[in-house]
Order: sequence, then C-alpha cells, then structure tokens
Amino acid sequence: MSHTLDASFLRTQITGILVAAGSAPAEADQVAANLVLANLSGHDSHGVGMLPRYVDAIAEGGLTPNASVKINLDIGTMMALDGQRGFGQIVGVQAIELGIARAKQHGSCIFTLSSAHHLGRIGHFAEMATAQGLVALHFVNVLSRPVVAPWGGGDGRFGTNPCCIGVPLAGAEPFLLDFATSRVAQGKMRVAHNKGEQVPDGYLIDEHGAPTNDPGVVVVPQSNGLFGALMTFGEHKGYGMAIACELLGGALTGGGTWHRPADTARSVFNGMLTVLIDPAKLGTQTSFEQEAREFVAWLRQSPPGAGFDAVQIAGEPERRARIERERDGIWLDDATWGEIVAAGAKVGVTVSA
Ligand code: NAD
Repeated sequence: MSHTLDASFLRTQITGILVAAGSAPAEADQVAANLVLANLSGHDSHGVGMLPRYVDAIAEGGLTPNASVKINLDIGTMMALDGQRGFGQIVGVQAIELGIARAKQHGSCIFTLSSAHHLGRIGHFAEMATAQGLVALHFVNVLSRPVVAPWGGGDGRFGTNPCCIGVPLAGAEPFLLDFATSRVAQGKMRVAHNKGEQVPDGYLIDEHGAPTNDPGVVVVPQSNGLFGALMTFGEHKGYGMAIACELLGGALTGGGTWHRPADTARSVFNGMLTVLIDPAKLGTQTSFEQEAREFVAWLRQSPPGAGFDAVQIAGEPERRARIERERDGIWLDDATWGEIVAAGAKVGVTVSA
C-alpha cells in the first residue's frame, strides 16, 4: 500500500507534529517546508521520512528545538558559527544568510558551521547563494553512524559526507551539483528497504565485509548485531572526496570527526565548510557569464547517448521533479507513512491521509 499526498497537506501535517514536539510555529513551518521541498525535488531520502528521527532526537535531547546559530568569530570574510544542536533547516539557513551578506560586501566569505542537527539537502543552501549571484562550495561531514566503508576497507568508518557546488548561470537556472560521497544516500537505502527492493551491485557490503544487494544491511542490525556499510562513489576518488568532507566539514569546523564505534542515538549532526564567491567583485563577471553560457550550450549539443533523451546539467532533475510532484503529489510508501503517523502519536498528534 502507498500514499500519494499533496505537498500542502504534508506541510500542514509535519508542521503540526513539530509544534507538538516543541518547535515554535515559525520554526515548524520552515522545517516542514524544507522537508517537503526535498520530496518535491525527488530526494525522498531527505524529505518527510526524516521526521520520525527528528522527533526521537528531540526526545533523547540530541536535537534542540528553537535554537539559533551562535557567531564565535566574524571578521567579514571569515566566520566560525556554532549550530548549537538546532534544526539544520533553521541554523543552516541563518548561517548561509549571514555568509551571503558578507560575500556580497567583501567579495567572498568562508564560514564554518559546527554542531548543526541534520542539514537535509545541502543544495538548499547553494540554491539560496546562487539566487544571489554567488558561487557556493560546501563540504559536509555527518556524525551519526559510520555507515560508509573506506576504499579497501571492510566496515563503515564515516558518514555519507555530502559535497555541493552551486554556480549561477546568467539568464538560466544554476548548475547545482549536490551529492552524497557514498555510492547512494543512506536515506535511499531506508526507502529501498521499506519498499522491499534490492539495490544494484557495487553499492553495499554486508556485516562481514562481503558484497550484497540487500539495503537492509545498513538499515537494521544484522545477525551479529553489526551493520553492513555503503561503498563510496567513484572508487578511490570518491573515497578521497569523502575524507576531504570529513576533514573540512568535521575537523576544520570544530564540529568533530567520527572515530568511535556506532552508538544508538537518533540525532544526526552535520559540520559544514562553506565558501562563497561573488563573481561581480572578482572582476571576471562578464567573461564568466559568457564562457559559462557558451560551455553549457556546447554541452547540450552532444547527441543523446544510449538510454538518454538529452544531456542535462546538475540541478535539472530536481527542478523537473518539483514541477511533476507539485502537480501529481508526493508518493510515500506505507512503511514511511506509518512511521510518520507513529511519530505523531508519540507527541499526541493524530495524522490521517
Ligand atoms: P544523487 O545521486 O541523486 O545525485 C544528485 C546530483 O546529481 C544532483 O546535483 C543532480 O542534479 C545530479 N544529477 C542527477 N542526474 C543527473 C543527470 N542525468 N545529469 C546531470 N546531473 C544529474 O544524490 P544523492 O547522492 O543521493 O544525494 C541526495 C541528497 O542527499 C543531496 O541533496 C545531499 O545534499 C543529501 N545528503 C545530505 C546529507 C546530510 O547529512 N545532510 C548526507 C548525505 C546526502
């Protein structure tokens, strides 16, 4: 059984649960809108399916509702920010708004954000920056469970460490590259497991370090009480990128790196290094706009390869999904919807579709 739900219905339900869990109405609205936008964008792994985990994280004391970002250092071109364990959808937006203002003023801003609870889709922040004409680079680590194996290793040692690059394109939608450095996002394995699906070769190893197609190995503890692990994308190169995200998003930000056995806490913390650049201040704006436009046009002239309709640039699949899902509704599997209903019940909210 599954549920196809209207985006506005989902936003209202999620907002109600978050308010009951302790968020002020404005915070609940913003978090709910961010989660639903992830579903609309085609990334169900970072959508409303995260809500049950957030409700548990609040109850455990790991996630602090109504927290704001704290500025530890601000010299204009550099900021050190502390997310104070607040909702990433709130403190992340506060951080990027501060960074955008400073990059507009000084031409660039590099900031670190530590101790944010789950930041969701990192592309959300790059979309905010590119909408202001800025280039945005984000390197993020994940402190929750070591779910990704190092290249050549046999168990999970770090998180799905996302990386995101946003580049504004004059007169067109931006280039918005936003991906987990694992072969797939952990949340996509939860979705596949809930749907009872197997995944392709090369995604996973089991709790003994052997290749497997069962997404359950990273969702539920296995026979020996251990989990399997995701592989990184791009073999040793994606592995290197994942480590860069851990060193920059975890060590450099002060948020910390993962170097301990798995725990059972439901909270997920992200550390993020962000670099914002204003091409207008760099003095290359005119050639940047022209060269970028001509390069993208050149790319699009490539004839479609086997199985493809056309060459796309990053960001397009998400924008297309938004149009389709706003129109057709958001599809949720029964297990995901059941978990949301149960999360509502935990805080005294009755949800029905
Ligand atoms: P993915 O594998 O779907 O890749 C998405 C990227 O590839 C996007 O930039 C998309 O536009 C681009 N893309 C997809 N198809 C394309 C095509 N045919 N041509 C050109 N570009 C194409 O994404 P993912 O790795 O599963 O990550 C999903 C989301 O999860 C991201 O938003 C990421 O930020 C988020 N994430 C967050 C955390 C966290 O802890 N907060 C951790 C991991 C991932």
